[in-house]
Amino acid sequence: AHNVTRFSSVRPAFATSNLEQLLQDHGVVINARALDEGQPTWWESLVYGFGPTLLLVGGFIWLSRRASSGGGMFTMGQSRAKRYEDAGAERVTFDDVAGIEDAKGELMEVVDFLRHPEKYQRLGGTMPKGVLLVGAPGTGKTLLARAVAGQAGVPFFSLSASEFIEMIVGVGAARVRDLFKQARASAPAIIFIDELDAIGRARGGGAIMGGHDEREQTLNQILTEMDGFDSRQGVIVLAATNRADVLDAALLRPGRFDRRVMVHPPDRLGRAAILRVHTRRVPLAGDVDLDSIAAETPGLVGAELRNLVNEAALTAARKGRDQVQRDDFAEALEKISLGPARHLLLNPAERQRTAYHESGHALLGLLVPGSDPVHRVTIVPRGMSLGATYQLPTDDRTSYSEPYLRARIISALGGRAAEKLVYGTVTTGAESDLQQVSEIARRMVVRWGMTESLGPMSLVSPQDEGLPPSLQRPSSSEATAELIDLEVRGIVKACYAEAEQLLAVHRPQLDALASALLQSESLDAAEILRVTGLQPRAELDAALDRPVPPPAGAAPAGENHSD
Ligand code: ADP
Ligand code: MG
Ligand code: ZN
Repeated sequence: AHNVTRFSSVRPAFATSNLEQLLQDHGVVINARALDEGQPTWWESLVYGFGPTLLLVGGFIWLSRRASSGGGMFTMGQSRAKRYEDAGAERVTFDDVAGIEDAKGELMEVVDFLRHPEKYQRLGGTMPKGVLLVGAPGTGKTLLARAVAGQAGVPFFSLSASEFIEMIVGVGAARVRDLFKQARASAPAIIFIDELDAIGRARGGGAIMGGHDEREQTLNQILTEMDGFDSRQGVIVLAATNRADVLDAALLRPGRFDRRVMVHPPDRLGRAAILRVHTRRVPLAGDVDLDSIAAETPGLVGAELRNLVNEAALTAARKGRDQVQRDDFAEALEKISLGPARHLLLNPAERQRTAYHESGHALLGLLVPGSDPVHRVTIVPRGMSLGATYQLPTDDRTSYSEPYLRARIISALGGRAAEKLVYGTVTTGAESDLQQVSEIARRMVVRWGMTESLGPMSLVSPQDEGLPPSLQRPSSSEATAELIDLEVRGIVKACYAEAEQLLAVHRPQLDALASALLQSESLDAAEILRVTGLQPRAELDAALDRPVPPPAGAAPAGENHSD
């Protein structure tokens, strides 16, 4: 063997054999030097230095690959439509839909057709292929579509149009094709296209960033499919939108979505019926009156009412109750309208000011003829507000009389007027009140022709329709614009003077209400009357022999001042 006298070797740090001992025993001269630990090898420095960057770059490449295939490469041509069979518990029927009886009535015919197609075909009639459900978000369009399928006992294929927008060109169209194929194979069936406006917007009108081609292709595919079958095959296409006005005219042509079913927000009786549906499985205490909750919730739609019931149940559970009580509903309603209670520590002076402010609203709501009844007043801070006064109409309203509008302005100014009366100074706290006031006063002048000088005419230019009043330009001369401002200011000033005067005269009631509020934070209608010694609004109106504005139909939410 080769006789080696000198060699060098690196001894790994983890070596444990007693090598040194062995070498020394044999008289080997050791010339040991520790490898510099702080000096990383070339590959170590590469990994530490560029590793994170490499990882990031790699991640980006991976992500962008995934995105560009959009799940489409793998699922292309295969519809992701959710299919709901009539599987026992999952099934939704007309019993689960309440408060939108007109819409239900119109869809009964569709259900009947799906069940007994021969009855309609006997006389050579054809059913509509497409039915468009039009209504505000949360009114129950999706629910209604599912209920049609459930009621008829046919499969339900649904697809949300907004999903198409993110996809690469061609995938949406392939999905639509597949959706119709599947539905035809299991006819009779319902196809449901939710949020139709997401793809069905009128073409040519400004493309929304990206996805324009895709939208168009998908839309064309829907049109092609709808033209390609007739309803005798037993497939009916339902679609939902909250913006029927923006839909492409091609969608609405005969043979496509030529039937329209309006889904309106529920009225008082409707809201009570919806509350009944959603409290079926909720144990309610004896003091809960669903009809009066319905009366206190003008403007709420089905989805919000369901949410209200759910919040109330959670509130009761948090308190360890076995049943949901009336005050759980009251708390839930406040939470839904203003956000959860804030544990905000107000200094006593600020709290007192808030109490006077809200008392001002509440008292004027009681004093001014024609006002909506004051229903609750609170100084519990919630969301952005320090307190709130709830004034709700006895019934839903569709039109407003001039005295009613003035009464609204006066009580909205009550907060500011009370602060001024009691403290001699004003605060920023009335910002949202003042906004509301200007809005109403302006509308009285330019929209509803309620002033002598300008006369009964609308002064809103047609192209401004739908814009908030503050952005609307009068379709008139500068002189008229000046007159409008003058009239608006006149209305507000007169109302403010009346607010100040009424509060000054009723100062004792104002003080009583504010101190009761400071003590118990929230007062309901009965407590407010007891504290102030006043009569309910309706009786006062009768005593004054002034007509109460006529209650009627569905209307926006009541008059709430939250500050
Ligand atoms: P939309 O599609 O009109 O936005 P949804 O059908 O998605 O409204 O409504 C959401 C939920 O709200 C429903 O699943 C249902 O629980 C409840 N809901 C809405 N409207 C009603 C109604 N008219 N009756 C009973 N529940 C309703
Ligand atoms: Mg929906
Ligand atoms: Zn206010």
